[in-house]
Amino acid sequence: MSLWETGRGAGGRAGSRRTRSDGLLVIDHGAPLLNITASPSPALLDPLLEGGWLSPWSAPVAMLEGESRLNIGRADALGMGRLFRGNDGMDQLSQGLLHLAGDARIEQHYGTFVRSLERSPEGPWRLLAADGTLLTEADWLVLTGTLLAHPRSQLLLGWQEVPLARVAAGLADLQLDHVLACLAGIRFEARTNLMMVFEPHQADIWRALPFALVNFDASAQQRWGLRRLTIQSLADGRCSVVAHSSAAFAADHLDVVGSRSAAARLLPHPPEEGREEQVIAALREAVRQCLAPWLADLDLQAASSQLMRWGAAFPLAPGLPSELMFCPQSRLGLCGDFIAGPGFGRIEGALRSAELLAEQLWQAAPKSLA
Ligand SMILES: Cc1cc2nc3c(=O)[nH]c(=O)nc-3n(C[C@H](O)[C@H](O)[C@H](O)COP(=O)(O)OP(=O)(O)OC[C@H]3O[C@@H](n4cnc5c(N)ncnc54)[C@H](O)[C@@H]3O)c2cc1C
Repeated sequence: MSLWETGRGAGGRAGSRRTRSDGLLVIDHGAPLLNITASPSPALLDPLLEGGWLSPWSAPVAMLEGESRLNIGRADALGMGRLFRGNDGMDQLSQGLLHLAGDARIEQHYGTFVRSLERSPEGPWRLLAADGTLLTEADWLVLTGTLLAHPRSQLLLGWQEVPLARVAAGLADLQLDHVLACLAGIRFEARTNLMMVFEPHQADIWRALPFALVNFDASAQQRWGLRRLTIQSLADGRCSVVAHSSAAFAADHLDVVGSRSAAARLLPHPPEEGREEQVIAALREAVRQCLAPWLADLDLQAASSQLMRWGAAFPLAPGLPSELMFCPQSRLGLCGDFIAGPGFGRIEGALRSAELLAEQLWQAAPKSLA
């Protein structure tokens, strides 16, 4: 069994940014938490908690309503139900999953972008890199993201065709054709996230705030261009503050991906010079102004700042019906938060869909999973 991931490590949108030169710097630049809203919980939840990969979230959560009304304890869809966080970074969720699967049984390849797919009706799946190099061959393929199967890759990356659609054209699998048609109808919301790191002497004022995570209601999002702020304490007294933009702000600044993100390497054209600094400055100013009632004279210039743009941060409903996620004729499975069902668009949905797919794969191809 092999895993191919373009990021430097496992985690995806529930990953953490880490820096080789600064081992204590861990920033959850995507999802800061995981919330379970439906019952029963995903079967993987308890083993992840027991293994110490996750723990219950206990920090105060609030909602910013309108311009500056703070409602402590109010949650929206991303904060309802039972809340959990990764222990020492959200990427520990994925590390825990790999551990539970038996890391040694999985050949793990990071920093490797799968650019195209090939398959003949009888042959194996073939995964290829951007330069056409064969990465691997496999009997079964599980896609946990939509990039290779959704037309946004044409718009975003200038590709001529959707890689999975190209393969499907030669397979005569009606279910796969249906999958591609449904996926093509899914729209995504983007997010542009600003990450700031504060030294210990600057971090105290952040930790003294009455919340560690604040969501913005619809009118606050419109007013500030922000959707969320999270304050993450680091082991050495520093803290990071991550400001998630609103969907509208991200849509207006889609050309700026963040020069240190994996997506930057894939783009056909580099962004216009100075654009990233402009976006950072705009988000910084929004943070400064919206927090003014609690943090007067906030100086954000001194904080080191980075940008991360999530082009497909959240799939919008209805998603891919779960009856279609397993395509036995093509020996293909799909899982992730884009599968319709409880937890859709969140980690909960990604976990539930993976469990559902695993059961079906196990029935159909026990040897491939053993
Ligand atoms: C800013 C932000 C805030 C969020 N907040 C929350 C929250 O509070 N609670 C919550 O539950 N959820 C939240 N989410 C959503 C949550 O992160 C996702 O639902 C979840 O991570 C989806 O997991 P996944 O495995 O389906 O997809 P992903 O995490 O996207 O994983 C897919 C992986 O496939 C890799 N990949 C894709 N294509 C290729 C390719 N061609 N070659 C190699 N690798 C490839 C990607 O790099 C990625 O690592 C948030 C998301 C964002 C962006």
